[in-house]
Amino acid sequence: AKRVYLFSEGNRDERELLGGKGANLCEMTALGLPVPFGFIITTDTCREYFQAGNKFPGLLEQEYRVALDLVEKKMGARFGDPENPLLFSVRSGAPVSMPGMMDTILNLGLNDEIAAGLAQKTDNPRFAYDSYRRFIAMFADVVLGIPGEKFEHEIEKYKAAHGKTLDVEMSAEDWQAIIEIYKTIANFPEDPFVQLKMAVEAVFKSWHTPRANIYREMNNIPDSMGTAVCVQAMVFGNFGDDSGSGVAFTRNPSTGEHAFFGEFLFNAAGEDVVAGIRTPLPVAALEERQPEVYAELYKTQALLEKHYRDMQDLEFTVQEGRFYMLQTRSGKRTGRAAVKIAVDMVGEGLINEREALMRVSPEHVEAFLHPTVDPEAKTDIIATGLPASPGGATGEVVFSADEAEQVASTGRSVVLVRRETTPEDIHGMKVAAGVLTELGGMTSHAAVVARGMGVCAITGCGSLHVDTAAGVASTHDGVTLKRGDVITLDGTTGDVMLGDIPKIAASSSDDFQTLLSWADKHRKLKVRANAETPEDAARARELGAEGIGLCRTEHMFFEAERIEKIRGMILSESNEERQQYLDQLLEFQRADILELFKVMDGLPVTIRLLDPPLHEFLPHGEEDMQELAKAIGKPVETVREITENLSEVNPMLGFRGCRLSIVHPEITEMQVKAIMGAAVEAVKQGFKPKPEIMIPLVINVREIRMITEIIDRGVQQVLREAGVSVPYRVGTMMETPRATLGADRLAKAVEFMSFGTNDLTQMTYGFSRDDAGKFIPSYLDKKLIDVDPFVSLDQRAVGRLMEIAVNESRAAKKGIKYGICGEHGGDPRSIRFCHKLGLDYVSCSPFRVPIARIAAAQAHV
Ligand code: ADP
Ligand code: MG
Ligand code: MG
Repeated sequence: AKRVYLFSEGNRDERELLGGKGANLCEMTALGLPVPFGFIITTDTCREYFQAGNKFPGLLEQEYRVALDLVEKKMGARFGDPENPLLFSVRSGAPVSMPGMMDTILNLGLNDEIAAGLAQKTDNPRFAYDSYRRFIAMFADVVLGIPGEKFEHEIEKYKAAHGKTLDVEMSAEDWQAIIEIYKTIANFPEDPFVQLKMAVEAVFKSWHTPRANIYREMNNIPDSMGTAVCVQAMVFGNFGDDSGSGVAFTRNPSTGEHAFFGEFLFNAAGEDVVAGIRTPLPVAALEERQPEVYAELYKTQALLEKHYRDMQDLEFTVQEGRFYMLQTRSGKRTGRAAVKIAVDMVGEGLINEREALMRVSPEHVEAFLHPTVDPEAKTDIIATGLPASPGGATGEVVFSADEAEQVASTGRSVVLVRRETTPEDIHGMKVAAGVLTELGGMTSHAAVVARGMGVCAITGCGSLHVDTAAGVASTHDGVTLKRGDVITLDGTTGDVMLGDIPKIAASSSDDFQTLLSWADKHRKLKVRANAETPEDAARARELGAEGIGLCRTEHMFFEAERIEKIRGMILSESNEERQQYLDQLLEFQRADILELFKVMDGLPVTIRLLDPPLHEFLPHGEEDMQELAKAIGKPVETVREITENLSEVNPMLGFRGCRLSIVHPEITEMQVKAIMGAAVEAVKQGFKPKPEIMIPLVINVREIRMITEIIDRGVQQVLREAGVSVPYRVGTMMETPRATLGADRLAKAVEFMSFGTNDLTQMTYGFSRDDAGKFIPSYLDKKLIDVDPFVSLDQRAVGRLMEIAVNESRAAKKGIKYGICGEHGGDPRSIRFCHKLGLDYVSCSPFRVPIARIAAAQAHV
């Protein structure tokens, strides 16, 4: 197959083959925008290279030489010709955007002779040698594996020795001196064609750098994709004062405001802006100094946004007053911005509601649920930087990613403080509550990555000098931050504060509500919440829950005073004793459930019968035992003895779930009295309770029949005594493989069914939920599994069981209600699967409800 495409031979739809960057360069070329010409080596070729054991495909060089000749003709300059040199950038570009994760080499095609030629031809030796030194350092870093800091360090040393501080103070001679030093560090090939071949190979390989691997893992990008390579004629922002480089967004990526937003550096290469080495100027500076160029930029961004019908992130360069486009892509944005832009664009007639829904990711929605710093409570602002990624964060200061990882692993919250961040810092950013950098703009690495992760960040905080090596950061006003000091970041304003400043829980916005209302309009799956307390239930309802899909009654006893009662019940030595505890538990349970019915007035509330895995409730250790003994008035020896008798080798597969009802029907009797007693009381108070009683962990229909009988008898008794009628349903959880494989019989005995996918996953895999944390990371690491099956539903096996269950149940009992109430009910991928299965509802934790509403709509669109 064709391995090489000219920019004039592709379009935006060919991302898979040409990579996102390449496809868009082609598209812009076709639109007639000023894109320096070039060609693309396909992602197929990259895969071919890996499959051959990192071997360059035989004909590849010949193929791209043909394309290169055409680029030379078009540009009117020649690669490797000292008289009239053409230089290239060699850029990576995957089908999915991975900003800054892979490598790019600029100014390729220089050596001593050609640099001298370039100096002469342009009559600009300073530019020629600045470009040359950049090339050596980049080539050495990316291709030869010599760390970039080594070269930076030489520049610092040189500047210090010659009384200079800024790059712009460096003359041609200074750069020449630097180049001589560089040549002692890096031994690079003189032949431009050898340089090119090595660079292409290095870009292929950069697909597998650790930072790229981590990024893919975090963003669920398959390893198999590979990257394309764009080889493009260079244009030079470092040519002089009428040149420069910039990055822009067609709308504000932080707020979503419909206003062109950009940053620019005069006399600088694009890498300077992206790397955050210098803090750039607002793009208005360009408007002031070069209005014609600005006008062209403005026109271009408007055109691109309209063309792509989405907010674009642009990279551009100006050389000697001429404007060039180097990249356009869908811009990364904060959650607030994503929602605002999607809703605005519907208003502007650019996209429709369904498209708007597809533009918002679960991470975006989370932003509406993040805390923000309370403006009233703000004190001790010690510095202010750029508001790079919103939200409030408090944590201990750490100065390296490794340190962040260490401290965070002990459960403490950290703020990662750096001069700037590089992709090597990702593992630290991932665990940090916030990120603070001295350098870099709104489009620097730190800003882009933190926004993507939803981590609060402040960049370009110039009044804070960070000395990573010494482990201190100090402000102009003499405040010093050391390792372990607690600070708060306000990523929405850019303020850095001492201490732990109070935060306000996340708030909604009109746009967000609009989007959610569209989601409700375009989805079929209902969304319920898992909740036990009235507070959680109220929050869930506020966030749009359409009922409770799982109320775990044992969780209603987690409070200190109550847990003693339930422990007392578990440790009872006689039926009378157990009954005493049950009578007390009845009161608590009835009162709590009444509250749930009130909060969920008119909506179904699914209450699961007690399912206490014994190890969660039995006392652990001597101290615990003594306390319990005192609380329930038994000698410690007795408590110890009973505990030992009850303790199970494998509690997750032990005496729990409906097995409890089978052995101790009085527990179920109590719960039914509580549930229906609460329902009667709710009715009396004018509410409309809709109780659904759910039996956990069943394996066959006889269990269901036996327990349903207890339930029905209890319900009738309560209702008869009260003289009230309340509609109720009895259903079963589907949590054991055996239940799913006999679902047709179970279905006939119940009115609804709900997958408990936590247990179903545990039992299908034979992975203990409580112990899986010890080995799942290794499984992920070694690629034995792609995702943690407790996070995202295993569609192959667990999903297969579910599919069988749903189909058999519905065949046996038409239209039986089906739900899911495991953790997976809040995971978008799993939600999509549940939609496909034709479930009636998903149930998830209250904070996931809005995410689930949107995911359900996305599954249906
Ligand atoms: P990334 O994918 O990390 O953004 P790019 O391939 O976009 O990497 O390259 C980084 C920067 O290098 C660009 O933002 C641009 O400023 C500069 N660059 C790339 N190609 C060229 C070129 N042909 N001429 C001038 N600058 C370039
Ligand atoms: Mg780029
Ligand atoms: Mg369960």
